[in-house]
Amino acid sequence: KLYNQVQDLKGSIRVYCRVRPFLSGQSNDLSTVHNIEDGNITISTASKHGKGCKSFSFNKVFEPCATQAEVFSDMQPLIRSVLDGYNVCIFAYGQTGSGKTYTMTGPKDLSEKNKGVNYRALGDLFLLAEQRKDIFCYNVAVQMIEIYNEQVRDLLVTDGSLNVPDANIIPVSSTYDVIDLMNLGHRNRAVGATALNDRSSRSHSCLTVHVQGRDLASGTILRGCMHLVDLAGSERVNKSEVTGDRLKEAQHINRSLSALGDVIASLAQKNPHVPYRNSKLTQLLQDSLGGQAKTLMFVHISPEPDALGETISTLKFAERVA
Ligand code: ADP
Ligand code: MG
Repeated sequence: KLYNQVQDLKGSIRVYCRVRPFLSGQSNDLSTVHNIEDGNITISTASKHGKGCKSFSFNKVFEPCATQAEVFSDMQPLIRSVLDGYNVCIFAYGQTGSGKTYTMTGPKDLSEKNKGVNYRALGDLFLLAEQRKDIFCYNVAVQMIEIYNEQVRDLLVTDGSLNVPDANIIPVSSTYDVIDLMNLGHRNRAVGATALNDRSSRSHSCLTVHVQGRDLASGTILRGCMHLVDLAGSERVNKSEVTGDRLKEAQHINRSLSALGDVIASLAQKNPHVPYRNSKLTQLLQDSLGGQAKTLMFVHISPEPDALGETISTLKFAERVA
């Protein structure tokens, strides 16, 4: 193997945490995050009931000031291993507004500097494929789907019918192709959503990159694939406050996120029984979770005091799968 960077990755499940900065310029003194050091994060749980702190440890914790480039560079070995034939899953987890889409895609005004993991990952794969072109011939193709209420929707179709279980796999040969497809996917995702009813926070979206490499000397084929998943918001809704469709959505989300947690926790514990069948997402990703595959659970938290409850439950979720 040319690039055996996979050796750097201890174990096949990693957990990262990123703290979003305050958005309206408030001082970080107000943050519930008390301290970040190496992979440890301490949350101050002070309230009218008294003072307190709680610490969690992960493979990596990113400060609010971490740049998109810094975050990506930590994930780069994992992403590059796809070219060596590994399967990789990256999940962005956290409550709505905590920065999942910012990490994976970027903010709305997408400058080069603030592009997220999805764009950088594809760019990097094309760059490496080019560097290896005398040894391997690579083909790259992408799929983009959304899972809403346990139903799968293809986001890369150009006409009206979007409910396709076997989503299109579209060959791409440059980052430009990928940007066009991601734009199409984002437009399709917005269909049916109104400003007040932003469906994107209540569905999982998954960009899958399939890579096939032919060793020019031996003819051997390597196949790897990478799933980049922006999960539905993990916040718990108050059952007494929502009814009807919103309650049904919330129940689907809770169930599928806990099914994902169960799968990753049983893989982390090397449990022989892995409950893949309990949700659409884990069923779809079954071949890329476990075995030789590499998983990164990337949890996001908001710094605001009123998010404290969700912050603690996000960190507990992450601790369970670490
Ligand atoms: P989510 O996808 O988890 O609901 P978003 O990614 O949409 O959250 O982030 C919510 C808001 O915070 C957006 O306006 C986004 O641009 C901003 N934001 C999130 N993370 C960061 C960050 N690390 N730095 C600057 N702004 C951020
Ligand atoms: Mg989002």
